[in-house]
Amino acid sequence: MRPPPIQDVDLSRTYDAVIVGSGAAGGMAAHVLTSKGMQVLLLEAGKKLPVEQELRSMEWPYQHPRRGDLPPGSHALSFNEYTIRRPPYARDTAFQHVYSYVEGWGGADYTKNIVVDEKDHPYTGTPYAWVRARCLGGKTNIWGRLALRLSDFDFKAKSHDGYGEDWPLSYADLEPYYDKVDLYLGISGVKENLPHLPDSLFQRPTKLTYGEMRLRERLGAMGRVVTPYRAGVTTDGLKHNKYRSKCFGRGACRRRPGGCDIHAAFDSPTGLIYPAMDTGHLTLRTNAIAREVLVDTNTGKARGVAFLDSQTGSSYEAKAKVVILAASTLESARLMLLSRSRQHPDGIGNSSGHVGHNFCEHLMGPSVTGLVKELVGKPHTLDDGRPGGFYIPRFRNLKERQPGFVRGYGFEGNSGHAMFPPGALDTPGFGAAFKKTVRDHAGAFIDIGAFGEVLARYENYVDLDPEVKDRWGIPVLRFHYQFGENERKMAEDMVATAREMFQAAGIEEVGVSREVLTPGWSIHELGTARMGSDPKTSVLNQFQQSHDVSNLLVVDGSSHVSASCQNPTWTIMALAWRSCDHLADELRKGNL
Ligand SMILES: Cc1cc2nc3c(=O)[nH]c(=O)nc-3n(C[C@H](O)[C@H](O)[C@H](O)COP(=O)(O)OP(=O)(O)OC[C@H]3O[C@@H](n4cnc5c(N)ncnc54)[C@H](O)[C@@H]3O)c2cc1C
Ligand code: SF4
Repeated sequence: MRPPPIQDVDLSRTYDAVIVGSGAAGGMAAHVLTSKGMQVLLLEAGKKLPVEQELRSMEWPYQHPRRGDLPPGSHALSFNEYTIRRPPYARDTAFQHVYSYVEGWGGADYTKNIVVDEKDHPYTGTPYAWVRARCLGGKTNIWGRLALRLSDFDFKAKSHDGYGEDWPLSYADLEPYYDKVDLYLGISGVKENLPHLPDSLFQRPTKLTYGEMRLRERLGAMGRVVTPYRAGVTTDGLKHNKYRSKCFGRGACRRRPGGCDIHAAFDSPTGLIYPAMDTGHLTLRTNAIAREVLVDTNTGKARGVAFLDSQTGSSYEAKAKVVILAASTLESARLMLLSRSRQHPDGIGNSSGHVGHNFCEHLMGPSVTGLVKELVGKPHTLDDGRPGGFYIPRFRNLKERQPGFVRGYGFEGNSGHAMFPPGALDTPGFGAAFKKTVRDHAGAFIDIGAFGEVLARYENYVDLDPEVKDRWGIPVLRFHYQFGENERKMAEDMVATAREMFQAAGIEEVGVSREVLTPGWSIHELGTARMGSDPKTSVLNQFQQSHDVSNLLVVDGSSHVSASCQNPTWTIMALAWRSCDHLADELRKGNL
């Protein structure tokens, strides 16, 4: 279905709400508020792209002149550049365009207009691989689709192990909203009845391969679980959404950094924004870079948003009864810090001094590759015709206390045949014998890589750089961020347990990576405006409403109190739905 036509923005009127950012969080806010009849303006800094023409997921590698690589003059940052150099990474470069590492991750030509050019969007401070997507839908256009719930092991983590803070809500508060997200957007998976990884309302799951089934059986005996990828993908279809089709399992979303041009995989435009536009209550303004939250000088409340047109540089103001920030964890914090006024001298909503602090995410790097020997030389099977591989949920620090570190980690895994034969680049030799070895082994590899909780610490933070500005003259973020002892100990344990599990399953280990990747690699930034009950130590209440400014909400991952180890997007959307429900009630009651 073609997207609905865009309505002209009317800057003379006062909208019920203005939302900044159109990714998972902003899209959800737009959906919930328009479904309640509110008149909403959505400001998105990036373009509205013809995303199907960008992703071209039906294109074979040989149909592309460079097999999908970036054009000459463009460069994707490598692991070594992130570790050896400090940001801004595009400073003093001879390249015309510089992109984050995801462009070198099989993304390249297909996503070069989706992720930002680091030359226009610099940042400074400690090393950090910051992946940003500035276009309608943000990072949801290319996300990895793993859609997991949190549990009270996460929401009440401090009560469990004494570290950090509990969230000001529990699983029971959020469960109905996770259910709504599942039903509205579609998710595939298998029920496992795990208290620490609650099940969703799943559509048809994808199948595990032979090697994965073996791992599942053997790990079951160790009390660990291998479950098919819980993918934010509709496998049975969604009757209520005319913009999305059901997954037909061609695996294109796994060959590049995300992207499904039939929109079986959730993305914010087709999943949330176009349906919201169809209500007639949503006005979308793209190329609109929010610069500051405007404040009523009498009341100190938010009165709207000042924005720049990204193409012309012209300045505008949008007026609204409520301002909702959903620009992503780091960009929303930046916007709050940029919004200084007499009433809010340290940035809007920042009387606690916690905006930008308690910044957390997921640790990545430790991984193991194995070989399922019985599969060597066996006939080829279609293993990558699915939107994801498998997941091994957290098993550390649940019942027992692990010496050396608190919290836990899970593993994402993959196995079997893929379009580019696994193992080919590491296979020695040449000629016919080389090709036979590659073909014989291609379907027998299996790998797992860990995602672990990075603890939220006040001393890990971002602030505004006093000198460096982006292409539009807006001060950029400066990172003050590093991993600690807990993360180092956890990374050692990740390697040990990955090896132990392959050994238990009789899978031959052929590669081990112990290296921890540069902070930011997981693309799961969280916690820069955390929720809490105490306005002195938190920025938002449990409904993501600013303690200081009652008509300001921040509905993205910045509100997370701790990172947990589960991928965050499903939780971001469940929280945004709950907060916007509450907001609409409050507005109706005249409480704002
Ligand atoms: C390659 C990749 C793989 C991933 N895999 C997974 C996964 O498997 N599971 C998972 O849960 N998560 C995954 N993620 C993370 C997921 O994409 C994010 O959690 C999610 O998109 C966050 O939603 P958001 O709305 O907060 O931010 P975004 O999706 O980034 O959207 C923010 C929007 O705000 C806009 N914006 C920013 N600043 C401004 C401004 N000043 N004015 C106006 N607009 C602005 C941006 O242009 C953007 O459109 C992945 C991400 C990537 C890139
Ligand atoms: S496997 Fe499914 S979700 Fe992935 S690109 Fe294909 S249709 Fe889309």
